[in-house]
Amino acid sequence: MKYDYLIVGSGLYGAVFARKATDAGKSVLVIDKRPNIGGNVYTEDIEGIHVHKYGAHIFHTNIKEVWDYVNQFAEFNRFTNSPVANYKGELFSLPFNMYTFNKMWGVVTPEEAAAKIEEQRKEAGITEPKNLEEQAISLVGTDIYEKLIKGYTQKQWGRPCDELPAFIIKRLPVRLTFDNNYFNALYQGIPKGGYTKMVANMLDGIEVKLGVNYLDNKEEYDAMADKVIFTGPIDEYFGFKLGYLEYRSVRFENEVLDKPNFQGNAAVNYTDAETPWTRIIEHKWFEFGKDDAGNDLPKTVISREFSSEWKPGDEPYYPVNDDKNGKLYQEYKELGDKEDKVIFGGRLGEYKYYDMDAVIASALDMAKKELG
Ligand code: UDP
Repeated sequence: MKYDYLIVGSGLYGAVFARKATDAGKSVLVIDKRPNIGGNVYTEDIEGIHVHKYGAHIFHTNIKEVWDYVNQFAEFNRFTNSPVANYKGELFSLPFNMYTFNKMWGVVTPEEAAAKIEEQRKEAGITEPKNLEEQAISLVGTDIYEKLIKGYTQKQWGRPCDELPAFIIKRLPVRLTFDNNYFNALYQGIPKGGYTKMVANMLDGIEVKLGVNYLDNKEEYDAMADKVIFTGPIDEYFGFKLGYLEYRSVRFENEVLDKPNFQGNAAVNYTDAETPWTRIIEHKWFEFGKDDAGNDLPKTVISREFSSEWKPGDEPYYPVNDDKNGKLYQEYKELGDKEDKVIFGGRLGEYKYYDMDAVIASALDMAKKELG
């Protein structure tokens, strides 16, 4: 049997491309080495709660085309992400907004907050931020950097802030308003029924084989299709022959608790350097919103997240987009461009710190290019 496309990986990139190709009349086979579809957006049912097994995923986008696209496959709830930071028992509002500045400095007006940030920036003497530390201080000042950024970032990335690229911290908004919506996004929510169901709807009617590893039988699989869409790690595809790209991995410790409400919020970040986990996710609050409807369930499921350096055998989560890895990726990309039968896509295939909407946009773009 010959397929037009063999799609390796049933995460968002693979599922969107598979849907588009199928709708364009192409024959498609999707394979995944895991026993389930969905890649890292996979959600698992525990105690009636959709647990984000590979880390919390909150869908947010400014791209209307992407929002309209995903809404064909799921209805989204009105979840708005507003994490709380816990610094040694002191709680702060995230992202950095007037509630945060008020708690940190007692300032009341936006002018006072801006003046405080400016004063701390001047004191630090930063004109052109060259790394994450300097970028953070110039955005929010030294106090917030010390209490809410430094420890968390070093735990998450395993590197000191002055060795990390500035762009990582630019993901976070800084606002002189009382607005604690984490994302600057027009559209936001979580699919009702979980992400797995959304991906299953995308793959409806498409042949999917689970628990099979493409790289173990590459030649056999390549012979089955005209083209291959590969969404795994690009360095693994090439047998790591130019060296390993670095990733951060995450270990999750899940716990079912006999209480309806553990922390009153989906995400609490532990921003000090000493607490070994970066954050605790309480999954039920992704589903039930901010009211207390979730209290109807007598139990709750929490996940503590521990960040670690990726080593072979671990799940890769975050590409480390620094200079060294950027250069190595470029070399792999050049090899990839020579494989005319294979398209590399997604967070791992393109070694890019993509959000979900950007992955979908990228898959839709590729589908346009490929399928017309
Ligand atoms: N960050 C921080 N303190 C926080 C939350 C985030 O310093 O409480 C920094 C940290 O460097 C992190 C970056 O902001 O890597 C981006 O955070 P984001 O929440 O976007 O990361 P993700 O959701 O992708 O894990």
